[in-house]
This record gives sequence, structure tokens and C-alpha cells, in this order.
Amino acid sequence: MFDAAVIGAGPAGAVTAIGLARHGYRVALFDAGSRMPGRYDRLPPYAIEFLKYQDLLPAAEQALVSIPPGSLARWQEDEPLFTPGPHHILDRDCFDRALVAIARHSSVSLFAHCARRPSFFGGRWHIPSGLAQVESHFLIDASGRASNQRRQGAATAAICGILTGVRLPEMRTEAAPNGWVWGAPVAANSAAVSVFLARKHCAGLTQATREALYRQTLQQRLLFRKCANANLAGPLMVRDATPCAHPDPVAANRAATGDACLALDPLLSHGLQIAFRLATQAAAVCHTVLSGAGGPDAAIEFFRTAQRATLAQHLAGAARLYSEHRTHAEEPFWLERSRIEPSPEPSAEVRPEAMYRLSALVRPEPVPALLPNGLIGRVEGFRHPAYARPIAFLSGVPAATFLPALAAPATLADLAKRCERLIAPAQAQKLLTGLVRSRVLVAAV
Ligand SMILES: Cc1cc2nc3c(=O)[nH]c(=O)nc-3n(C[C@H](O)[C@H](O)[C@H](O)COP(=O)(O)OP(=O)(O)OC[C@H]3O[C@@H](n4cnc5c(N)ncnc54)[C@H](O)[C@@H]3O)c2cc1C
Repeated sequence: MFDAAVIGAGPAGAVTAIGLARHGYRVALFDAGSRMPGRYDRLPPYAIEFLKYQDLLPAAEQALVSIPPGSLARWQEDEPLFTPGPHHILDRDCFDRALVAIARHSSVSLFAHCARRPSFFGGRWHIPSGLAQVESHFLIDASGRASNQRRQGAATAAICGILTGVRLPEMRTEAAPNGWVWGAPVAANSAAVSVFLARKHCAGLTQATREALYRQTLQQRLLFRKCANANLAGPLMVRDATPCAHPDPVAANRAATGDACLALDPLLSHGLQIAFRLATQAAAVCHTVLSGAGGPDAAIEFFRTAQRATLAQHLAGAARLYSEHRTHAEEPFWLERSRIEPSPEPSAEVRPEAMYRLSALVRPEPVPALLPNGLIGRVEGFRHPAYARPIAFLSGVPAATFLPALAAPATLADLAKRCERLIAPAQAQKLLTGLVRSRVLVAAV
């Protein structure tokens, strides 16, 4: 009998399992072993920070295949634009296996089988797999985007290939009339290149017609022309890239994490970062429930609102990026993806000389938050219409710390002085500016 069973040993599943094992729980991790070979992802900077903080960086170091020194994009303008700054490209098969190895070292029990449909009866989960049946108190679905999901945006697919005999000196992104192309070096003379298209254009193709579509798209792109006739290291893979979310991601005895909870548009290239964040949050929900240290309702509310807020933020971010592209803006692919919901109010101007007070719309109340001990509990916080979720911390500062300092009206300089007794000056400045922009602090007239 396990405390928790995690279905799926991708980055989200492995990190959730490791987090729970580090809290001392007995964890079963199901690894179907059906990884897609030749899959390469860019590791986002925040994901690197997370791995460092969690002592998991060796997994990324083992899987690192290249560090292109910048990115070349043909997106907003026809003229390619080079942005310096390193990008870390990972071999996902290697990375996932390295994380699973760390999970095993952390006393996670590995089941190298595909988990079949779990059922809950007699107060526990029953998960059939291979010849065995695993039982657990809590179930974590980390099985990826094929899981129980609801579409949240235009249906998109990626045709992914590894090309040999080509050298890409940097990471590249280029818009096309009916999609976009991403590429990165994965060795001195080979590159991972993916073509993103509306899903309907990728359906029903044979291997030959898919390859023809892929090569034709590359041929017509300035930054990828030299890739069009390169040799493929293996068959082209088609991956679903439609943004989607689990409609009911958490309950008192289960949670979905990673892509099974929230799968975002790869244009943002944030998938791994979100997967790690959701893994931490799912582990916290499970820890809170199993430890009995708090009621599950705070944990459930926390996880649901976090999922919705992340989804809203990323849909808006992706739409903004699509809308920055002008050349093919009238094509159906771009029209469908660049619709930006008008924000209810533009951010307010910061006026250093004005007197500011807390808005009457600020509603102080206990709100659910992830605490430093890994549990979810209610702490003093507030709600305000500018924020999609209740606020317990802003710029890393507990609301309970800064709200009392803002109770009486004052200029920003005086409010900063009050806050500086509690937090560092730079942090106080950032916090106050953010509060004015979001209208939590309003001019006192
Ligand atoms: C085309 C494309 C490009 C992307 N590029 C990037 C990028 O550059 N950077 C980035 O950060 N993100 C990128 N992403 C997103 C990123 O790949 C995902 O967010 C990330 O893989 C999510 O990890 P996960 O563990 O939730 O799911 P997955 O990586 O899908 O892992 C799920 C695992 O569960 C296993 N599994 C499924 N069912 C079962 C079962 N019943 N029993 C046992 N095991 C099971 C699967 O075999 C798999 O190993 C991209 C996504 C796409 C589609």
C-alpha cells in the first residue's frame, strides 16, 4: 500500500514523486517507457533555477546537447532579429530518464509498466498495471497531454524532425503564412526542426506526404531554407500542440499535474517551467491531504485557482506573441491565434508626488497559499479585481507584512519608508509600483 501513486514518469511525474518521497511518503511511480526518441526541448531559465533549488540540476546537465548563444527570429519584421543570450537545449529522453534515476535514489518505487484505468473503492485507489495491482491513498495523474483535457485554443500540431548535415549557429524561429517554424542545434552538424501548423493540415497524411509538407515549409522560409534538403535522422514525429486544460484537476484524493493538468502553446516555450511548478503544487496538495495538517479545501482551492490563473495568463501571453506578427496577420492561422481579450483596465500611471491609499476594492481575508514547509494553508491575504487569484504574496513579500504598512494614506516615498522597515528597499519599490499599476493603491483625493 502506497501513500501516493504517480502515473507517468515525464518531468512532472518524476518531480512530483521526488517531492513526495523527500517528505517521507511511500510513492509508486508508473513509467510506461514509451518516450519519443529524438525529442528536444529548450529548458526555460526559470526551470533551470527550479532544478538548482531542488538539487536536480545534474539531470539537466546530463541531458544538455547544446547551448546556442542567442536566437534569430523572423517574426515581427521581415528582417531577422538576433537576440543574444544562451538557450539550453535538452535531449528529453535522456532528461526524463535522469529524473527517474533520481526518483529511484529518493526511494520512489518504480513500476516499469503502463498504468491502466485506476478506480477508487474501499477508501483507496486501485491501479492495475502489468501483472500487479498497486494501491494508494492519493493518485497523481502526470500522464501528459493525452489525459482528460479540454481544448483551450486553436488546434495545433507540430511536425518534428532531426536533420543531419546542417549547422544552425543559433536557435531560430520564423513565421510562415500557415504556421511557424522552430529550430535549434542539437550537435555540431544536426538540428531539431519543428513545423507548427493548424492540426487539420497534419491529419490523414502518409509519411511521404508529411515529409513533403515539412520540406516545402522549410524551403519557403529564409532561416530554414538550407534545412529543406537535409537528411532526416529518423521518421518525422507529429505532436499535438493545442493548448488544453483539465476541467477538474483536483479533488480530496487526486490531482492532475504537468501537461495532464495544463498544456500550453509551445510558442511560449515554457512547458517545462509550468510542469515543474504544477509538480510542486500537486505534491503540496497531496502532502497537505496525507499529513492531515490542514483541511483539503484550502489545498483544492489553491490548486484550482492556480491552474486557472496560469491558463489565463498564458493564453493572453500567447495571443500577444501571435499578434506581434504582421506579415501574415490576415491569414486564418494568425487570425485564430492572435485574438487578445481586452484587459478590463489598462495599468495605472505611477505619480511619485501623489498621496496614495489602499483601494476600497481590496478585500483582506485568509487565502490559501503554498507555505515554506511544503503544505498548503490559509494565511492573511487579500482579493482585488485586478488579480485572477487571491493574493498571499506579492514580489515574494507576504501580504500580511505589507498590508498594515499601507493602511494610512501617504506619498509613495513615505509608503516605501514604512515598507523598508519590513523588506529590502528595492523590493519595496517594486512592490509599491506594482500595487499602483494594478490599482490596489489609488490616489487619495
Ligand atoms: C511540439 C512541442 C514542443 C515543445 N517544446 C518545448 C520547449 O522547447 N520547452 C519547454 O519547456 N516545453 C516545451 N514543450 C512542452 C513540454 O514538452 C511539456 O510541457 C512537458 O513535456 C510536460 O511534461 P509532463 O511530464 O507533464 O508530460 P510528458 O512529458 O508528456 O510525460 C508524460 C509521461 O507519462 C507517460 N504515460 C502516459 N500514460 C501513462 C500510463 N498510463 N502509465 C504510465 N506512464 C504513462 C508517458 O509515456 C510520458 O513519459 C513542447 C511541447 C510540444 C508539444
